[in-house]
Amino acid sequence: MKKIQMVDLKGQYEQIKERVDASVLDVISSAAFINGPEVHSFQKELEEYLEVKHVIPCANGTDALQIAMMGLGLKPGDEVITADFTFAATVEVIALLQLTPVLVDVEPDSFNIDPEAIKKAITPNTKAIVPVHLFGQAANMDEIMAIAKEHNLYVIEDNAQGIGSSYKFADGKVAKTGTIGHVSSTSFFPSKNLGCYGDGGAIFTDDDDLAHTIRGIVNHGMYKRYHHDVVGVNSRLDSIQATVLRAKLPHLDAYNNARRSAARKYNQAFEGIENIITPKVKGNSCGTSSAIICDTCNCHVFHQYTLRVMNVDRDALANHLNEAGIPCGVYYPIPLHSQKAYQDDRYNELDFPVTNQLVKEVISLPMHTELDDDQINYITKNIIDFVTK
Ligand SMILES: *Cc1c(COP(=O)(O)O)cnc(C)c1O
Repeated sequence: MKKIQMVDLKGQYEQIKERVDASVLDVISSAAFINGPEVHSFQKELEEYLEVKHVIPCANGTDALQIAMMGLGLKPGDEVITADFTFAATVEVIALLQLTPVLVDVEPDSFNIDPEAIKKAITPNTKAIVPVHLFGQAANMDEIMAIAKEHNLYVIEDNAQGIGSSYKFADGKVAKTGTIGHVSSTSFFPSKNLGCYGDGGAIFTDDDDLAHTIRGIVNHGMYKRYHHDVVGVNSRLDSIQATVLRAKLPHLDAYNNARRSAARKYNQAFEGIENIITPKVKGNSCGTSSAIICDTCNCHVFHQYTLRVMNVDRDALANHLNEAGIPCGVYYPIPLHSQKAYQDDRYNELDFPVTNQLVKEVISLPMHTELDDDQINYITKNIIDFVTK
């Protein structure tokens, strides 16, 4: 059996090596390292793939979120509601801009922001909601868009983990995640579903004026050379990363299918094991039942495959797996509202029952495009032996 990796970037590279090597060398000989034609072509190709009017590439997914918020003109003191159970980047940029982060609880089955908790957190100062499509599955965008409309709020989708996934609205309309809210961000960090070979990110929007504003912000607030109309940042995707992304984008759906296929095998192996809760696909895009990971739609792109283990010492399980040569991860071990940097007196522990429980139970298994059946069988057998002994 091949050594098991949490993420197998090398194996994936082998499949596209010829194209990647040639195009990276082309960029080097062209010397168009910044804002070169590769960046422009990638931008166009991603706009087509997502069916969104504007893709604005930038340096990373954290910048993308920050720039999206700057573009919307949010002001210090404005409240921004986001999930308590996510990567810290989401809340970090809210705080950096001196906006007020308002963390709320998530749903126990999808791990995504709970619309009921959003409703409770809205005040006259609320200006935006940031749903995170956690682990590759869309948040409840029907509810979130309705709440936003009712209260006149912006929706900024953090699509760093969801690129390529779709959401089916109650009325049957299907849209790719990252194209539903007013503006969205994504990350091309190497381990993300569409990852480059360094750092990268992008902002998406259908709003022409907002896109124009954001194009200036990423470039020192310049709309005309050496005229700085707004305070901007320096956040660019470089041409070498863009060319890698151009090589990978045509495979993104196949990559996500490979992830879904691995997830389906994991789910099947764990069927009937009482103290394991397998990830639920909420049937967002095709209406199948939640236990099935269907092959006909992109309702979940499994950035992570995350189990909940009940009445089991999760950390002992993680150690056991590591000793057996099986890497695993705990995303995320501490709720954001309990992190030193983001603690706040207004939070009440009773408002976070789900996150407080999830941080003790979640464990993410190896998930990438190169997992084979031997590896999956070995991983699932080790877990089942441990939790049923
Ligand atoms: C990875 C990630 C980010 C940040 O992306 P970077 O490119 O690492 O800056 C933001 N939000 C979420 C949910 C992420 O998973």
